[in-house]
Amino acid sequence: MKYQSYDINNFRNIPQVAEALSEQQKRDIEIVGSVLPFKTNKYVVEQLIDWSKVPDDPMFILTFPQRGMLSPEHFETVEKLIDAGAAKTEITAVANEIRASLNPHPAGQLDLNTPVWCGRELHGFQHKYRETLVFFPGQGQTCHAYCTFCFRWPQFVGIKDLKISSKEPQTLVDYVAANPQITDVLFTGGDPLVMKSRILAAYIKPLLDAEIPHLRNIRIGSKALSYWPQRFLTDDDSSELLNLFREVKIAGKHLAFMAHFNHPAELKGEAVRAAIDRINDTGAIIRTQSPLLQHINDSPEALAEMWRAQVALGCVPYYLFIARNTGAQQYFSVPLVKAWQIYREAYQQVSGICRTIRGPVMSCLPGKIQVLGAAEVQGRKVMAFRMIQGRNPDWIGRPFFSEYDDSAVWYRDLKPAFGDSRFFFQDELDGMMTAAAECEADNLE
Ligand SMILES: *Cc1c(COP(=O)(O)O)cnc(C)c1O
Ligand code: SF4
Repeated sequence: MKYQSYDINNFRNIPQVAEALSEQQKRDIEIVGSVLPFKTNKYVVEQLIDWSKVPDDPMFILTFPQRGMLSPEHFETVEKLIDAGAAKTEITAVANEIRASLNPHPAGQLDLNTPVWCGRELHGFQHKYRETLVFFPGQGQTCHAYCTFCFRWPQFVGIKDLKISSKEPQTLVDYVAANPQITDVLFTGGDPLVMKSRILAAYIKPLLDAEIPHLRNIRIGSKALSYWPQRFLTDDDSSELLNLFREVKIAGKHLAFMAHFNHPAELKGEAVRAAIDRINDTGAIIRTQSPLLQHINDSPEALAEMWRAQVALGCVPYYLFIARNTGAQQYFSVPLVKAWQIYREAYQQVSGICRTIRGPVMSCLPGKIQVLGAAEVQGRKVMAFRMIQGRNPDWIGRPFFSEYDDSAVWYRDLKPAFGDSRFFFQDELDGMMTAAAECEADNLE
């Protein structure tokens, strides 16, 4: 199969769309897709989406814009413009206003996490947690298709500051070499595997050649196994890619492939299975992650089936996230208490081998906060949490408590339990934010 993508301008040409969707449904896609990113491809349309189940099919909801993703007011505003035959520039201007109101830069991504080194800000680098440097290669900032829930959505509609990515492999090597606490470099995007193998190699090989003893793990975050498994099978540089993975292993480093799967349907096809086998053959290990998403995977059965399938194929379940507070969060998010109940029921259904999954986890300003669950302590209903990652490593692993709140969808909605006015990390976090504000931070969530 040759890669062919579709977007807002040509999706009506997809035969399945023409056949299965009403005019109203197509209009909904056009309206929402004018504000939030939309891109799908032939493989997703032909192999992943079950058109007999549309509009409820989870793979359809995962890549085609849904009406409920915009508030009724925003929807109506754009609808009127399109009905009135407004010019593209006018629609874009209104779309940009709506986008700006959807918290496009959550969790201090733009400022707090950008390292300052040798007197300059390293754009395209995020160094939030001590051991792991996140790197956004300049050529890897799109994806083979876009997920409707994506928290990186602003970069796909062109409003994110382009400085968020880097094309400087040498700076990457120098920064890692100079920071002995870094054991992991995580390549992310977008999807770094939209890059040609030789371009990815131009980032990875210098890291290997530099023989940095403290660098142990090279991670690649990618959705390509789901949206374009041909990347590992029939693309003309697929063997080159797999050989690059082998070279990482030969250099004595671990290649951690961080795969995004949201639903068991993504693991069923022959192509994805063959692609997983080929990656496993290189000595890389595939770990899997997903947010818990209303309308897509919010049932214990779907999650348990997904984790079992992953383990059967030789992958390691890693993180189950809470949907982030950006974009169409209200459409996809599941309240923390409900998320924990779903997680727990799924966790109970699988054997210990699948229980490498950690969740539900909020990736938020202070760190990665895991919801441990609801409990009753001396007659009071509370919720328990711990950080799996923290801006301050000393925060990691300490249990803490909030009042019970079954409508909370994010840590900012929570009130500390037992009459405390602040969570234990809050003062220190405020201090970090003030320090960052002094070096001209804005836009903190
Ligand atoms: C999740 C995340 C990491 C990696 O965390 P692990 O727990 O080691 O997988 C690194 N940096 C940022 C900014 C993250 O959000
Ligand atoms: S593959 Fe990842 S970065 Fe790309 S749209 Fe999906 S969630 Fe976002």
